[in-house]
Amino acid sequence: AKDLGRNNYQRYSEQMQARFKWRMSTEVLLRHAIEADELVLHYQPQIDLRSGRIVGAEALIRWESPSLGRISPAQFIPLAEETGLIVPIGRWVIERACRDAASWMRSTEGAHCVVAINLSARQFNEEALMAGITSALSENQLAAHHVEFEITESMVMQDPVSASGILKKLRDMGCKVALDDFGTGYSSLAYLRTFPLDCLKIDRSLVTDVAIVCAVVQMAQAFGFKTLAEGVEDEAVLAVLQDVGCDIVQGYYYARPMPLEEFKSYLRSHSEK
Ligand code: C2E
Ligand code: CA
Ligand code: CA
Ligand code: CA
Repeated sequence: AKDLGRNNYQRYSEQMQARFKWRMSTEVLLRHAIEADELVLHYQPQIDLRSGRIVGAEALIRWESPSLGRISPAQFIPLAEETGLIVPIGRWVIERACRDAASWMRSTEGAHCVVAINLSARQFNEEALMAGITSALSENQLAAHHVEFEITESMVMQDPVSASGILKKLRDMGCKVALDDFGTGYSSLAYLRTFPLDCLKIDRSLVTDVAIVCAVVQMAQAFGFKTLAEGVEDEAVLAVLQDVGCDIVQGYYYARPMPLEEFKSYLRSHSEK
């Protein structure tokens, strides 16, 4: 029994060491990823359900590391958040997304397509956020109303009063604001109603539940927010969303996130209708 305990401990400590090594090496590599040009943004279309038009595209970050391979943002964003690397990465995302949006905005097909940018918790609370956005907009001659920021429900609920102030600043600049992953946290409805928001993004885990989707859409309408359903994968879900009056949809049923050039051709080929 003693031996077994020792083996367990050894295994545990080996796992800890492996995890620590993974963290250390990944942090070092991530630190260099920006200058090394290993980060890219992919874009996933957002479609207006009534008109069928592409009204937006969400920027989703990808990391292609020569030594680690392709790493999912669900893995490296939390690490970047812990280490503070999210600040330079987040700044890069804003700059690149504005540049890319400006490039599709110059075409007739892309003229109405807003770029949606994810903000992390640290970034959202950072003093320099507004200045960074302002310079990215002016450098690319991009109008503020062509940019939307996605902030998660858990981020705003940590400190609703301060969050509300930041949301107001973003909207005063002319940017749009969407509440991401809605339904996964514990939003206080009393606060939610007072938040300066343009859109509620219904979380992927909820879009297949007809009763919930219906309730969320009705509540959003009462509060004056648009609704976007994410993770739409099939026609049955789409039919329900249409039925309950959801405004915008995003998901594999329409398109997966894709590189910029591919997204531009997507815009071109889906605008004739
Ligand atoms: P999110 O903001 O909730 O983004 C939606 C995720 O769902 C994306 O995963 C997207 O590829 C995926 N998705 C879209 N449609 C479907 C569908 O129909 N079915 C399924 N199963 N999945 C779908 P991705 O690209 O792996 O990103 C994961 C998360 O990483 C994002 O979740 C977001 O929280 C974070 N993230 C990605 N890019 C950035 C960024 O630039 N900045 C920050 N702070 N976070 C980011
Ligand atoms: Ca998002
Ligand atoms: Ca989401
Ligand atoms: Ca999510």
